[in-house]
Amino acid sequence: MSPTTLQSMLLPTYPTPRVAFVEGDGVQLVDADGTRYLDFAAGIAVVSLGHRHPAPLAAAHAQLDRLWHASNLFATDPARVLATVLSERFAGAAEGCAVFRPGDGGFAGGASSPRAQAFFCNSGAEANEAALKYARKATGKRGVIALEQSFHGRTAGALSVTGQPSKRAGFEPLLDGVRFVAPNDVEGLRAAMSDEIGLVLLEPVLGEGGVIPLDAEFVAAAGELDALLAFDEVQTGVGRTGTFFAFEQLGIIPDLVTLAKGLANGLPIGCLLVADAAAGAFEPGDHGSTFGGNPVSCAAAIAVCETVDHALLAAVRANGERLRAGLVDLPHVVDVRGRGLLVGVELDVPAGPIVDAALDAGLVTLTSGANVLRLAPPLVVGELHVDQALTILREVM
Ligand SMILES: *Cc1c(COP(=O)(O)O)cnc(C)c1O
Repeated sequence: MSPTTLQSMLLPTYPTPRVAFVEGDGVQLVDADGTRYLDFAAGIAVVSLGHRHPAPLAAAHAQLDRLWHASNLFATDPARVLATVLSERFAGAAEGCAVFRPGDGGFAGGASSPRAQAFFCNSGAEANEAALKYARKATGKRGVIALEQSFHGRTAGALSVTGQPSKRAGFEPLLDGVRFVAPNDVEGLRAAMSDEIGLVLLEPVLGEGGVIPLDAEFVAAAGELDALLAFDEVQTGVGRTGTFFAFEQLGIIPDLVTLAKGLANGLPIGCLLVADAAAGAFEPGDHGSTFGGNPVSCAAAIAVCETVDHALLAAVRANGERLRAGLVDLPHVVDVRGRGLLVGVELDVPAGPIVDAALDAGLVTLTSGANVLRLAPPLVVGELHVDQALTILREVM
């Protein structure tokens, strides 16, 4: 069958792809004709260590040869170890929140640092569904404050808290009791608060809604409200912004954190972390996932977490700066923003044609809304890759 016929067998939930990739190698992708591309999309901020990184590759291989699945009715080590690793990273991050030191990736929590328990699932949307259910059970309240332009996933609950009318159209009514506030609008946030609100759900950097970083003042105001505070770190987590969790740079410890995209370098996984401060709401039977905690995904995720160390986080921050500095004086650029290697370039023209032209020139990029070009390369990119990407973008713009 021709590629077009094959494509027509998939439900058309995405625009028709321009390229079919058959192989990945570090920060490069290879298409069916053998053409190589520099990957500044990383499968939408997922392939965090680059394609076929030896650490998660070896860990997943070893686990594939031992045990694929046993269900959560039984204990398996990869899920338990991953939960421990994430709890330690949470403790370290909570400590780093007090004083974020840029020279320091901020981990190795002390014995007294707050820890977290994990629930594993298979995607970002599922992680946010777990957070929504957890907050209801913990607070007895249905109301949620979320942000305009936010993105939390496509399932019914996650879509209910996604502040993008175009994604909701055709599927309403969704969950009620959700109030949307403009990012960084402290007054609007306070005005939206009421007795019915049990959860405030924030992306530290709005990844799909234009790469908008939240400021510390806004997040501090959210922390003062009498509700659970959840950070959706599905896109910003696991080193993407230059610290293991993005919330470390905002100086506030959340009650709930969701992770997914970069956690297992491309294998499906999602995670809800519940901090000690909010512990105890779920009991056996309250929630579940057949595939959640899959041993192969969890083994890969452990290797990813081990690889995201101080040195890599420092490199993410440095290369992010280099990338942003090189972008500011390109044609059509109105604003350059983001944290670490999650970078948004607001343009005075639509971003879609730039993404297409860059792809034709051998660079894979993303959009984030109509006129924002998004760059989210693997965290292992070097200065040379950053400079190559800038050269291609300069040509196509
Ligand atoms: C991608 C994303 C999601 C949804 O993740 P899926 O795995 O596609 O369900 C949720 N929240 C944020 C911030 C995301 O970037």
